[in-house]
Amino acid sequence: MPAKTHLFLCLKDNYGVLVHDPDSGATAAIDAPEAAPVEAALKTTGWRLSDILVTHHHHDHTGGIAELKQRHRCRVVAPHGEAARIPAVDETVRENDKARVGGLEARVIETPGHTAGHIAYVFAADKLAFVGDTLFSIGCGRVIEGTPEMMWQSLLKLRALPDDTRIYCGHEYTLANIRFARTVEPDNTALAAREKAVEQLVAAHKPTIPSTMGEEKAANPFLRADLPAVAAKVGLAGKPAAQVFAEIRERKNRS
Ligand SMILES: [Zn+2]
Repeated sequence: MPAKTHLFLCLKDNYGVLVHDPDSGATAAIDAPEAAPVEAALKTTGWRLSDILVTHHHHDHTGGIAELKQRHRCRVVAPHGEAARIPAVDETVRENDKARVGGLEARVIETPGHTAGHIAYVFAADKLAFVGDTLFSIGCGRVIEGTPEMMWQSLLKLRALPDDTRIYCGHEYTLANIRFARTVEPDNTALAAREKAVEQLVAAHKPTIPSTMGEEKAANPFLRADLPAVAAKVGLAGKPAAQVFAEIRERKNRS
């Protein structure tokens, strides 16, 4: 049977999400910003927590791990490069490693830039990608521990996923991201349509994620830095894509 997912808010604007394998009963939390909302989500769904798959070491993604592990004896899977900064790690993973959740299988993609060891988990059979703070809907994470070039390469790896892959990111930043994206690509009709749709979701207090990779490719300026039209819009016609990406990221930092 296909995987089931359950999305919920944590902290101020973080997302928690559970991935459930109906055949085995296994359930993974993707990151654990805090324990209480994860517990509430387990109660709502009736699922049993078997695994926590961690994308990166930031506290707003790991703050609930120790408490959840103590209560559920779940297995904690974390990026190889950041295991020392993440509590209670049982297993570390690198590029192309598999992380299993019961009968479900995720492939690990290393996506450094936001943090040096950041990873994403892709459940190809279910067309689900959990991208942490590397890619946001119509945005991307701040480049904190890496370089813009590194972040651009990480985004290209994610952009190669099939268009119908559902993208789960770590934060509800979509509307603010769209407002910024409109300053880069004011004439992008896909972006204008997304703005309308997202305004309605936000007004109804509904999450704006998951989106799909196809939607992101059409409207997310950070995935479009190699398009001549986008380079021209930021005054960098003919320049390398990584430089265009860096300029867009810098403008977002200042916005
Ligand atoms: Zn982060």
